[in-house]
Amino acid sequence: MVDYHTHTRLCKHAVGVMEDYIESAIGKGFSEIGVSCHNPMPDGYDLEHRMTMDEFNQIYKPGVRNLQQKYSGAITIKFGLEADYYPGTESFVKNFIAEHDFDYVIGSVHYLGAWPGTELIPAPIFERVVVNLRYEEYFERVRQLAESGICDIIAHFDLVKKNGIRPGNESNGVDDTMYRALRAIKENNLCMEINTSGLRKKVAEIYPAEDILERAAEYGIPLTTGSDAHKPQDVGSDFEYAYSLIDKYANGKISVFSQRNREEVDREVLVDNNKT
Ligand code: ZN
Ligand code: FE
Ligand code: FE
Ligand code: ZN
Repeated sequence: MVDYHTHTRLCKHAVGVMEDYIESAIGKGFSEIGVSCHNPMPDGYDLEHRMTMDEFNQIYKPGVRNLQQKYSGAITIKFGLEADYYPGTESFVKNFIAEHDFDYVIGSVHYLGAWPGTELIPAPIFERVVVNLRYEEYFERVRQLAESGICDIIAHFDLVKKNGIRPGNESNGVDDTMYRALRAIKENNLCMEINTSGLRKKVAEIYPAEDILERAAEYGIPLTTGSDAHKPQDVGSDFEYAYSLIDKYANGKISVFSQRNREEVDREVLVDNNKT
């Protein structure tokens, strides 16, 4: 019972403080929660969706350390981060990550184009060709993210579908770039998250879709679970479904992280540990 993808109001578009999320996780019987607020970025990149460097140093990091102490024995709290992948910012992000002892880093592609970036698929777009190109650009960025060495876990692998706009039939290029991204995840020994927030978006489908999970399982890509909660009550939302996918596509094994080392744990063992 692990939720590795949660935010707090430090991210400016989420509500509640860290402790609210931890209390919510304890209330729902979780053994482990990770906090993963959006990372500080350089040059004014997307300030309205992330903490500043000062907030990271003065509130986020000491806050996690404090709560780890306060709740030890009740729940394991991991020090995580959601890091944006955006061409040109890689060395800033890598240097920042190297300076801090994160338990894990989730890597995400949230914007395309040149900054100020475009939303993934700004609705409404009706031209299929444009949609297909956006999908290809998106999965190409995810491949670059997997090869960048920035992260341990690939976030919401098919986020580009979030507004429910799908590529057209002539979408072989989309499949090709998607499979290339998946292979890069495998070749770089990364983990992928099952992220339930897609179920709460217009697309109403989990990230990644089951056909992608099926392919990921063929490649032997390890999986973990995250709600991407932006409010405390969303911690662990739809996790029964997520666990059924862990059983189906990762032999019941969930990846957990400490100090950026991955361990694949039988989820039944996690449940038993929680009871004792
Ligand atoms: Zn967010
Ligand atoms: Fe994200
Ligand atoms: Fe997130
Ligand atoms: Zn996210």
